[in-house]
Amino acid sequence: MAVTEAGAGPAAHLPLQLLLRFADAAFEQRFIQHYVAFYFRYAQMSLLLGALLITGDYLVDRFAHIHGPANLLRLTLAVPVLLLGLGFSLLPKARQHWQPVMASFIVTVALCLMLILLRIDQEGGAGLKSWVGVLNFTFLEFYCFVILGVQFRHALASGALIMAAFLYALGWHAGLLAQEAGYWSYHVLTVFILAAGIGWWREYLLRKEFMARSALDDSLRAAEQRALRLAHYDEVTGLPNRRLFAELAAPALERARHSAGGCAVLHVEIDRFGGVHELYGHGQGELVLATIARRLRACLRGGSDLAAVPVMDQEPSLLARLGDQAFAILIPELTGQERASAVAQRLLAAVAKPVAVDGQPLRLSASIGIAMFPGDATDLLHLSRCSEQTARVAAEAGGARHKFFDEALNARARKRVLLEAELREALQAGQLRLHYQPKVDARSAGLVGAEALLRWQHPERGLLPPGDFIALAEESGLITPLTDWVLHTACQSLRRWSDQGLPALPLSVNLPASSLADAGLPEQLEGLVRQYQLHPASLMLELTETMVLRDVATAVGVLDRLRALGFGLSLDDFGTGYSSLSHLKRLPMSELKIDRAFITDVARGGRDAALAAAIITLGNELGLQVVAEGVETAEQSQFLIGRGCPLQQGYLFSRPVPGADFERMLQSGTTRR
Ligand code: C2E
Ligand code: CA
Ligand code: CA
Repeated sequence: MAVTEAGAGPAAHLPLQLLLRFADAAFEQRFIQHYVAFYFRYAQMSLLLGALLITGDYLVDRFAHIHGPANLLRLTLAVPVLLLGLGFSLLPKARQHWQPVMASFIVTVALCLMLILLRIDQEGGAGLKSWVGVLNFTFLEFYCFVILGVQFRHALASGALIMAAFLYALGWHAGLLAQEAGYWSYHVLTVFILAAGIGWWREYLLRKEFMARSALDDSLRAAEQRALRLAHYDEVTGLPNRRLFAELAAPALERARHSAGGCAVLHVEIDRFGGVHELYGHGQGELVLATIARRLRACLRGGSDLAAVPVMDQEPSLLARLGDQAFAILIPELTGQERASAVAQRLLAAVAKPVAVDGQPLRLSASIGIAMFPGDATDLLHLSRCSEQTARVAAEAGGARHKFFDEALNARARKRVLLEAELREALQAGQLRLHYQPKVDARSAGLVGAEALLRWQHPERGLLPPGDFIALAEESGLITPLTDWVLHTACQSLRRWSDQGLPALPLSVNLPASSLADAGLPEQLEGLVRQYQLHPASLMLELTETMVLRDVATAVGVLDRLRALGFGLSLDDFGTGYSSLSHLKRLPMSELKIDRAFITDVARGGRDAALAAAIITLGNELGLQVVAEGVETAEQSQFLIGRGCPLQQGYLFSRPVPGADFERMLQSGTTRR
């Protein structure tokens, strides 16, 4: 927008240039325009007043002095010129050049007047060489600087012109003695200098004031534009946001509807992007997103080679950023899935190119869900929902791929809604169970602890593992009552075992992702162990690294308090997240659980074996108790023992079992029968 850009430069040119014009032509234009309306009316009124005054002069001369032809000439010459000026001022285009036009009118009127006054002198009336002449011209000089005062140079030019003509007429044509002419000239000249000085000073003030007010206007306008941008654009990538996307997509869909054509809505989700924020910080994460956005845009712009036959005047595709790591794309004028698929592949390739972060190449991938109009849905809301859902499925299938929406997915979504309602009921109806998986010292198979794992005894579908419903519970908020139930049940069991005189082994419970955001967690847990009269150390809280790294500062605060209260803290699924060793040092953990993924082919001695060994060394060195999860074979177990990790958990020793079975193991102190 020219206006805002123009506001940038003028302040530097104070004060000399200020009097002539602003250095910036657009700003100068703005300055004049700002005063035009006001001065324009003023000029019009003065033209009218001028006509009235001249008519008055004519009448005075007619009755007080002799009534010669020059007096009539005054009426017939000057008044029409003034009225002409007034008429001209009513034309719309007069506004554009009103200053020079007004200046020429004033000069013309002045010259007419001078001619007439000279004639009046010749006819013996009170003309140029009388006080009437001096008065007329002093008035005209003032008038120039008042009316043309916005641009002093116009006033100066016309004032000087009138002055010169007056002096010339006085000296050579009025028939005055040199002394008399000098006396009259002196009067008009002093007024000229005075008026010029005032005009000059006034323009200087006007311009200064204008600059101040423009600066204010500009910053207001900039703030307004920023607000407008924020409401419609994403700040990080500069792309339209969800709202603007909806506004822009509506007409494209409408056109597709009318032309019976098709389009596609793509939901692009960068896989596991949360980890990038955690690892590199939000600033870097945003830079990465901006880079990806640029690539996506470039992909869509070069649209013609996507089609088998290039389409020349094709509507452009729309790209928007929806949320954290999600983008939406609308591709118009598209009939088959092939082209949508080709676009998706290009987009995937664009995301897959490494991004340099801190000089290191970062490799990312994306999951793309595609919904077609009108096949899958006919309005943007549903198209977006379908594509988003499909992207989620693509992500769950491992990411780095695109998928088309299909009805079966929709059925799954409906099933989820049903499941959520059922889960809500399950809490009330007592369908939840805790199973216990022993943690052993593999050298002796002696019990050293246990992990409580949640199960849902579904009335129709049987015993459901947590994988079937934890994510749903987290999304729906049911996770809070669910976790309360798990914690109470775990404490109840500990209390019962203690009452039965069974050995006191620490019991691990899994905390959900949201729990660390709750600053009240330490108090809640403290209340719980007090209620069941347990020692805090008998509870081991399992957290995953991704949970902790989501907001390290807050997490460390909560964890420090939990540790101070005496609770055990275990870092679950270690090795799968983006966790860095520097973070690990800061966390007040007591235990590290190596993820099953590393254990699976540990005995085969590949890369995972080396990693597992490194993790064990690291954990031991940091003084942590290291536990290997998912140990299924004797070879795995032996390997781990050999590397200094005798604490193990897995099917080799025992699957997670109901409370009664676990109590029997507690009694015997081993998983062996
Ligand atoms: P997790 O914390 O990593 O739990 C270990 C999972 O590995 C359990 O699955 C366990 O049955 C399984 N497992 C143990 N040993 C072996 C083995 O040798 N081989 C194989 N293939 N698997 C083994 P489960 O019980 O299905 O739990 C899955 C996940 O659900 C847990 O992973 C945990 O993240 C979550 N979860 C379980 N209970 C709760 C709970 O009460 N609250 C919350 N928030 N999450 C829970
Ligand atoms: Ca666990
Ligand atoms: Ca685990």
